[in-house]
Amino acid sequence: MSISTDMNGRVALVTGGTSGIGRAAALAFAGAGAEVIVTGRREAEGLETVELAERLGGRARFVAADVTDAAEVAALFERIERDHGRLDAAFNNAGIHSAAPVTDLTEAEFDRILTVNVKGVWLCLKHELAIMLRQGGGSIVNTGSVLGQIGMAGNGAYSASKAAVEGLTRTAAIEVAARGVRVNAVCPAIIQTPMSAASFGGADQVAAALGPLHPVGRVGRPEEVAAAVLWLCSDAAAFVTGQSINIDGGVTAR
Ligand code: NAP
Repeated sequence: MSISTDMNGRVALVTGGTSGIGRAAALAFAGAGAEVIVTGRREAEGLETVELAERLGGRARFVAADVTDAAEVAALFERIERDHGRLDAAFNNAGIHSAAPVTDLTEAEFDRILTVNVKGVWLCLKHELAIMLRQGGGSIVNTGSVLGQIGMAGNGAYSASKAAVEGLTRTAAIEVAARGVRVNAVCPAIIQTPMSAASFGGADQVAAALGPLHPVGRVGRPEEVAAAVLWLCSDAAAFVTGQSINIDGGVTAR
């Protein structure tokens, strides 16, 4: 068996690859030798990820898609099948966050969060599983959050969406386990990204106010999540499926 995270000859997809954790994962895949398809809605940021991957000596391309739009998602996977003929690894990472107490949450905001964070993952998962089952193997990682497991005031819809991602992950994993396809989730605590900066009053505030909440004494870096995603998608994790792996500086160990 191989315990290497080498991805040479593999094709990898990263949703939400225009920023934060997704960009770091795209660079990790590219650095490990994969051909990477970066997706998201913002073209300029997607092309920036591609350029960073190429600077590492990797191969990447950007294909725009909104993960909540079934037709755009179908077109994305048609393109992957046409241009690459296979898909070995997929990181369903696109997501949004907003905060409001459960009593103040509007129906529109609840729907928006659940639509991106849950339906968006499911729509991509469906196509990824179809390709991977046809080719007889592959590995998928979905982005959950520790907030799918523990509560934090103001995060009702977000917590519900991330708990749903874990449920979807476990069920999909069981459905395809015997046919060579693995499905796992990574569940980060606070990671220093544009999302956390926007949600918690800027990057400095994220580090100063939220770092001490983590037993390791700081918030996480996108690359620290990307490292787990790369491992889960590699042959080194061949016996791991249906799991939620917390990348959380010890938060959920308390
Ligand atoms: P980020 O920097 O804001 O990145 C979010 C990504 O999601 C962007 O690339 C964005 O791309 C994409 N996205 C959002 N809505 C989309 C849509 N409708 N269609 C396609 N792409 C969409 O945030 P991040 O912190 O890296 O978050 C990545 C994931 O980690 C999310 O699922 C988030 O919930 C999760 N997470 C983050 C933290 C944290 O503390 N940062 C903790 C736990 C979990 P476009 O704008 O280009 O579409």
